[in-house]
Amino acid sequence: MYDITVIGAGITGTFIARELSRYDLNILLLDKENDVANGTTKANSAIVHAGYDAAEGTLKARFNVRGNKMYDEICRDLDVPFKRVGSLVTAFNEEEMETIQCLYQRGITNGVPDMKILDKEEVLAMEGNLKEDIKGALYAKTGGIVGPWELAIALAENAVENGVELRLNSPVTAIKKVEKGYRVSAGEKTYKTKVVINCAGVYGDQIDQMINEKTFEILPNRGEYNLFDKSVGDMVKTVVFGCPSAAGKGTVILPTVHGNLLLGPTADPIDNKEDTRTTFDGLTSINDHAKATLKQIGFQDVITSFSGIRAKVARKDFIIEKARGREDFINVAGIDSPGLTAAPAIAEYVVEMVQASATSLEMPLREKENFNPRRTPSIHFMDLSTKEQEKLIAKDARFGRIICRCENITEGEIVDVIKRKAGATTLDGVKRRARPGSGRCQGGFCAPRVMEIIARELDVDMKDVLKDGKGSYILTEKTK
Ligand SMILES: Cc1cc2nc3c(=O)[nH]c(=O)nc-3n(C[C@H](O)[C@H](O)[C@H](O)COP(=O)(O)OP(=O)(O)OC[C@H]3O[C@@H](n4cnc5c(N)ncnc54)[C@H](O)[C@@H]3O)c2cc1C
Repeated sequence: MYDITVIGAGITGTFIARELSRYDLNILLLDKENDVANGTTKANSAIVHAGYDAAEGTLKARFNVRGNKMYDEICRDLDVPFKRVGSLVTAFNEEEMETIQCLYQRGITNGVPDMKILDKEEVLAMEGNLKEDIKGALYAKTGGIVGPWELAIALAENAVENGVELRLNSPVTAIKKVEKGYRVSAGEKTYKTKVVINCAGVYGDQIDQMINEKTFEILPNRGEYNLFDKSVGDMVKTVVFGCPSAAGKGTVILPTVHGNLLLGPTADPIDNKEDTRTTFDGLTSINDHAKATLKQIGFQDVITSFSGIRAKVARKDFIIEKARGREDFINVAGIDSPGLTAAPAIAEYVVEMVQASATSLEMPLREKENFNPRRTPSIHFMDLSTKEQEKLIAKDARFGRIICRCENITEGEIVDVIKRKAGATTLDGVKRRARPGSGRCQGGFCAPRVMEIIARELDVDMKDVLKDGKGSYILTEKTK
């Protein structure tokens, strides 16, 4: 019998599972996919928002501002890339200047520190590549960028190191109320649990409906992106937002934590929650925004395009509540933007909810003495000094063999991410953890080598090594 079962190992579920792992509890983390962070968490803008966007008084506003503050310590503990580069909301006319004034006021109400309205000269001094007809911008010093899937993977690793049981390839298909809890059917197995926490992203409504009739509906909304090569990663230094409109926060141009340039997203309501295609119209619209905003931008440097799906709800706020008043079933749903930023604060709040129900659930929350907030640090060979590199190679020759020549990733680093807790089993799983295939050639050269390493380390046939999700086979037979 588990005390708590968390459904969904995206940023929300992994943060909650890791926060709960501070306590002496039996925790199960389930995900339908073959890796952590394979839903919305792997495809978003990766911005740690300052907090002036969300409407005053909402959970979004509250958890955005609180979550933002929590990022430094968490990313330090978990060895995850995070940079407070600051953000700008640009205004190119008087109407947009009025909008940024409203955002500034909302930011003040929401408790956002260190904001300033900049005039034209100040903006251009900060971002020299913005067009000269800019009128001003809202600057927020606390805006940042993070590696979203790296963070979720690190949280899962740390949660497992602290005793959480992670079960992948476990789609929850039924939840039955039993005495003192639930019986959760996932994959071939059934688990008994006292409490269920629903963090299933765009499928949050389906999980909720497994115990009763419909109470909310997830309205999927797609955002498309272009990712540029590192050679143009310094086109902007801060997170540069267009002025927001009814459709959303506005298109963003930003550096990534790994030095690329990211452009997007669109905001399109869609019917199919799996429809992650990119479209000519969508990519054209974001490219047009970049052309209208920047003096210099070249689309020959786009190395890949992708899209992610927002889990919107009619309520226009996060749904974080006991399902139909039940103490033992918590919905954490409708976690669209700024869900990534808010996730640490959401986790804190959910643990408070569990704590408040502890007596009636007969599940006291006792802090563990041996909780370790730090995960085993990962190895970044190229960040080491020559001396450290030589020492590492002398200890393990696999660090002397470069597999990915675009990103300079060694065999040793790839083996490390396969062997870790919550380790990689697929080509993209290795890419998300150690970055081979993230560079200009997008895996054109290193993918076969990485597949060989996965097959060797996991003792599986090369033909069974997947690109990413279930069924994404790459090879059919040997040719030479
Ligand atoms: C285009 C776009 C841009 C965004 N930009 C930002 C940003 O810059 N900053 C920010 O703060 N936020 C941003 N967001 C929002 C942020 O990405 C999300 O709020 C966050 O990733 C949601 O995480 P999650 O864990 O709730 O959902 P997910 O990451 O989708 O995780 C849900 C998990 O549940 C699993 N699951 C689903 N059904 C089942 C089932 N039946 N059984 C078992 N497992 C199941 C899925 O496999 C998945 O792993 C953006 C979102 C989008 C789409």
